[in-house]
Amino acid sequence: MTATIDLERGRLTVITGPSGVGKGSLVNELLERNREIWLSISATTRAPRVGEVNGEHYFFVEKDEFNELVANRGLLEWAEFSGNFYGTPHKPVMKKLQLGFPVLLEIELEGARQVRKSCPEAFQIFVAPPSFEELERRIRGRGTENEQAIFKRLARAKDEISASNEFNAVIINDNLNLAVQEIEKLMGLIA
Ligand code: 5GP
Repeated sequence: MTATIDLERGRLTVITGPSGVGKGSLVNELLERNREIWLSISATTRAPRVGEVNGEHYFFVEKDEFNELVANRGLLEWAEFSGNFYGTPHKPVMKKLQLGFPVLLEIELEGARQVRKSCPEAFQIFVAPPSFEELERRIRGRGTENEQAIFKRLARAKDEISASNEFNAVIINDNLNLAVQEIEKLMGLIA
């Protein structure tokens, strides 16, 4: 992605944080309370989890299709994560920004770094766990990954947490309600 996007500060928000930190619950609650926010739906080569719906949680695509999106500059950013590819479709984000909606991207570290380059005005929030032990407990408690995937995700989590100082703000996800309120303040949705 080379083109830069000219937008008001705070219009585009990036939420990043290690797998299992509870970004999903935070984002769901944020959207529930603020219907005007538009959450980007990513493309991924990962297999759907039980209950995940194509076009709602992700666009589940084959590797070839993902490569095509990359080759055609169809993605605002993309990254490999735990052996799968994830990326943000470019056009819908631009469209929603042009229409004036607050846009939210929930993406991992490499993607956040790419957005920082292409769109320095985006506000970047890092969601951290209260402790690494608590993160491991949450990932295991979710029961969606096998041992190998858990190991990979925990290793990646260490790298992500050590990069948290690159972000505009760090939020500790200890209490869902308070964490959502902090994000709302940072996004200028509440005083
Ligand atoms: P999961 O497999 O648990 O749904 O997601 C794994 C990781 O990929 C999470 O950290 C999530 O934030 C990240 N992710 C989801 N969509 C995207 C995307 O479009 N781009 C990037 N870079 N990361 C994404």
